Amino acid sequence: MILHIDMDAFFASVEQRDNPALKHKPVIVAGNSERSVVSTASYEARKFGIRSAMPVFQAKLKCEGLIIVPGNMKKYKSDSKKIMDILSQFSPLVEPVSIDEAYVDITGCERLFGSSQDMARTIKKKIEAELSLTSSIGIAPIKFLSKIASGLNKPDGLTIITKPEISAFLAALPIQKVPGVGSSAMRHMDIMKIRYLGDIKKYSPRILTLKFGKMGPRLLELANGIDPSKVETDHERKSISSETTLPNDISDFEAIKSILLDRSQTVGRDLRKKSLLCETIFIKLKFSDFSQITRSKTLNTPVCSSAAIFNEALALYRKIELKKKIRLVGIGVTSLKGKDMPVQMQLIGKENLPEKQWESVDKAVDSIMEKFGSDIIRKAALNEPSD
Ligand SMILES: [Mg+2]
Repeated sequence: MILHIDMDAFFASVEQRDNPALKHKPVIVAGNSERSVVSTASYEARKFGIRSAMPVFQAKLKCEGLIIVPGNMKKYKSDSKKIMDILSQFSPLVEPVSIDEAYVDITGCERLFGSSQDMARTIKKKIEAELSLTSSIGIAPIKFLSKIASGLNKPDGLTIITKPEISAFLAALPIQKVPGVGSSAMRHMDIMKIRYLGDIKKYSPRILTLKFGKMGPRLLELANGIDPSKVETDHERKSISSETTLPNDISDFEAIKSILLDRSQTVGRDLRKKSLLCETIFIKLKFSDFSQITRSKTLNTPVCSSAAIFNEALALYRKIELKKKIRLVGIGVTSLKGKDMPVQMQLIGKENLPEKQWESVDKAVDSIMEKFGSDIIRKAALNEPSD
């Protein structure tokens, strides 16, 4: 189950909370120049038809007593952090989407916090108690539906779409509510008489690709209740990489291999410093004619040792048929996970043994590098190829 939380009129609500004179008044948070646009409008201002991104002069025309408050990003950011911290008390899988919005994977958290409905209520209460702000929550078995659900009963809403309700819900979902469907797609939708997401199923994947590009097949998946996207924590989406532009273009295997080892150590050390594991390793090669390629490998078991990174990088490199000289070599890791994150059972399997052994070697190398700089250990390591 995936929970999507969206704060209600976030910036405006923060301002109304901190200045009682603004309570129950039409307020917008916006810059001060005539060219500014509305960043957030309070619900009282929305009654006049004022919306985010509307030019301020236009908003003023719509509402005579409109109060314009300059934003205080520092304050919003610190409140946002408090909200995200509350969310991570319920699940380690929190994906912040923006300053006032996040997905939380609550699968399996029911044992700890009761039904998903109870959990949502507790989260809302906690935020209200600690920050005096209201939020709206949507819960669904599919990620994109949870976001749509959170928007259905704003403000202070709680909407749950259960598995048996999905197909009826999708069939009746107005197509313009589907994330990614903008005004240019809507023109085709009108012509093709697609009003609801369910109508997408009338067309073949070929036609949909022709009309909507990559989004076509995705819409068909969504219409069938399939959304492969998962909740991804902040660092999972990030990557750590290191690359070197060579003094001369080369194609010598041994020379490239030692650069790969060198870069693996740098990347591995960064990873360990942040107490992270990686699941995907990639290499990047730029050639003498400036063309470039990347190759990647996703592992069954996350790793953090320089040796494991090097071995995968070398295997990727070996598979590349070199036709030109190389001018840049890079290695990177992505799909990062915290070491304290729940990891799959494979970690206990024997695949993990060499990785465990490498950990102590890496620890020793890291601490020496920390003390004496990264040059000191390089030569010794290069004499000891680990594949
Ligand atoms: Mg919001």
